Amino acid sequence: MTTRSIVLFSGGLDSILACAILAGQGLDVLAVMFTSPFFGTQTAERAEDEKRLMLKRYGIRVEILDITEDFLPVLLAPAHGYGRFLNPCVDCRILMLQKAARLLEVEGASFVATGEVMGQRRLTQRREVLALVERESGLDGRLLRPLSALKLAPTPMEKAGIVDRSRLFALHGRGRKEQMALASCLGIRCYPAPSGGCLLADAHISGKVRRVLDRWPDLDTNDLRLSPIGMHAFLPDGSWLVLGRNQKENDRIRGLARENDCVVSLTGGSGTIGLWKRIKDPGLCPSVASIVASRQGGSPGPTTVLFSGKVLCAVPVPSHHFDSSGLTMNTHNSMQRDLHHA
Ligand code: SF4
Repeated sequence: MTTRSIVLFSGGLDSILACAILAGQGLDVLAVMFTSPFFGTQTAERAEDEKRLMLKRYGIRVEILDITEDFLPVLLAPAHGYGRFLNPCVDCRILMLQKAARLLEVEGASFVATGEVMGQRRLTQRREVLALVERESGLDGRLLRPLSALKLAPTPMEKAGIVDRSRLFALHGRGRKEQMALASCLGIRCYPAPSGGCLLADAHISGKVRRVLDRWPDLDTNDLRLSPIGMHAFLPDGSWLVLGRNQKENDRIRGLARENDCVVSLTGGSGTIGLWKRIKDPGLCPSVASIVASRQGGSPGPTTVLFSGKVLCAVPVPSHHFDSSGLTMNTHNSMQRDLHHA
């Protein structure tokens, strides 16, 4: 019977290579991609297309699983701390590997593999951290890093001959040349360019999410999904207004509206959508209307604004009151920029 392995899959070249190396040794590979509001978001939005593409392009069978619920407590209080910004990378890796470990039995797989390259990332791919996440994920002896295996002690899978160590690699460091050469050897010609990937590793977005977390440590997954989107205004009654900057953000914001939230929009359905949450003072309606109306551009003037269907007229405030890093509204009539860059 063919041995099955689960590969932690990001969609990047390293994880594609890990899958190809194992498949090349005759193993049955199931790639698992974990998503949250901060990573894998676009893949999750077109999951079926992505799965078809991966199968067609690389012959890789991919499962896409949302881990937002489990990621929330990790983000709020990571046992191993944050990276440069709000990225709880060590705990995030442990969480993903724990999830993969639980899938082993379900999928009838023997071990988990990753596309990690020793020394590539300072925070998570140092030798001691690789050992730590293996231990804390409960995968001791069942975790293989095919790209850097020859830099690490042989695993039980290699000792048992399930995986041929002589056909594994000794990649190390931040360079990408060796991966590209390996891709060429394996016949992989088309692969994504390296990109930022995780939004939490972005200074600006991390700062925006941090302001939400600091205000509401009791936030739920719905709030978490909103936290990296659009522009944020924090109003004097403690309420929160999220504003879309384009159609895609408007659609996502609308999709995240819940029963007690107020969707603020302009008549005719054009322009910014605002989602007003945690409202304690409905008397702030005119101010909220002004904020939303001001985002439509054009010359200031009376504009009709809808509050979950109800009409209210507002005079837009000048758009220079805003910037995409967020803003704080301190009184009904005055606004201050909130430029806390992380
Ligand atoms: S960069 Fe983001 S996805 Fe990657 S380990 Fe860190 S928190 Fe997780």
